Amino acid sequence: MSNGEVMSTGKIENAESKAMILLLGLRRGGKSSICKVLFHNMQPLDTLYLESTSNPTMEHFSTLIDLAVMELPGQLNYFEPSYDSERLFKSVGGLVYVIDSQDEYMNAITNLAMIIEYAYKVNPNINIEVLIHKVDGLSEDFKVDAQRDIMQRTGEELLELGLDGVQVSFYLTSIFDHSIYEAFSRIVQKLIPELSYLENMLDNLIQHSKIEKAFLFDINSKIYVSTDSSPVDIQMYEVCAEFVDVTIDLFDLYKDSQQNEQKDKNSKAVHNRPRELKNVSQLGNDVIIYLKQMIRGLALVAVIRPNGADPESCLTVADYNVDILKKGLEEIWANARIHPKESS
Ligand code: GDP
Repeated sequence: MSNGEVMSTGKIENAESKAMILLLGLRRGGKSSICKVLFHNMQPLDTLYLESTSNPTMEHFSTLIDLAVMELPGQLNYFEPSYDSERLFKSVGGLVYVIDSQDEYMNAITNLAMIIEYAYKVNPNINIEVLIHKVDGLSEDFKVDAQRDIMQRTGEELLELGLDGVQVSFYLTSIFDHSIYEAFSRIVQKLIPELSYLENMLDNLIQHSKIEKAFLFDINSKIYVSTDSSPVDIQMYEVCAEFVDVTIDLFDLYKDSQQNEQKDKNSKAVHNRPRELKNVSQLGNDVIIYLKQMIRGLALVAVIRPNGADPESCLTVADYNVDILKKGLEEIWANARIHPKESS
């Protein structure tokens, strides 16, 4: 569903109707790889052979809200008069800057500070997010050091520009593990104004079932758009994300030949699936993983811990409460129509 769309410089099509995330950073930092892995199910190792992008590209990504992720090539000068950066930065909800932690990063930090200065001037509501990327190549100690160093240097650059009050969030990421999904989940969640309703609904679900943790996943990208208010354990997230993959693979194995013809290998069109996805699996340690499709390409994935109770009755209760959650989501969608956060 998310076909990359090459755009001409200075033209920002469809941007106004969506919550936009702008992906920036120096060349070879990993921007294209991040987009391919998140939105086109590309295997991380295949990104080795990606050509560096020379044109801005746009990914459309519809979950509970319509989102667009726009990737600007590193060598582009956003501040050229011919480039309509003011309009672009005004329409953006989140600015994600990718820093290659395996490379010399001082230039990137200077570039980042310059972009923050500009972005903040035209749009003070913009969320500024920094990915300290490719950390898979760093040892644990080095990771912590790199993070501290990058945060400190960015702070110093901003202080020099008189921008020390600007909030910047940092994430350690790699396309070789789930950290990139986790970071994007948090970034996307900041753009969903009704997030607290969703969190409440999931808290309610947990309280009334034997569910330990519940995520609302965007099935295609495996970004979670919401979770209950208990802390996220990355391992639990990984298990749930992998369960989404397994479910889709099993589902695709048995789809009929007509669908086979329409299939686009890289963008599994969840919205067009005729049947609703559902998958329940009991693990060796008695934990049950439960997946059920909700609305708009979203699935609820829950970890159920029966703790001695009869698993069947736990599932009956879960089914009942998950149906209530689905109705709630339909209602939010139909009546309130969740709109992207106004960014200006
Ligand atoms: P862009 O110019 O910012 O779009 O960068 P690319 O996406 O083309 O990535 C440049 C190189 O970095 C490619 O060879 C990728 O395979 C590699 N790369 C991207 N992300 C990661 C990562 O998380 N870890 C490692 N080790 N390499 C990465």
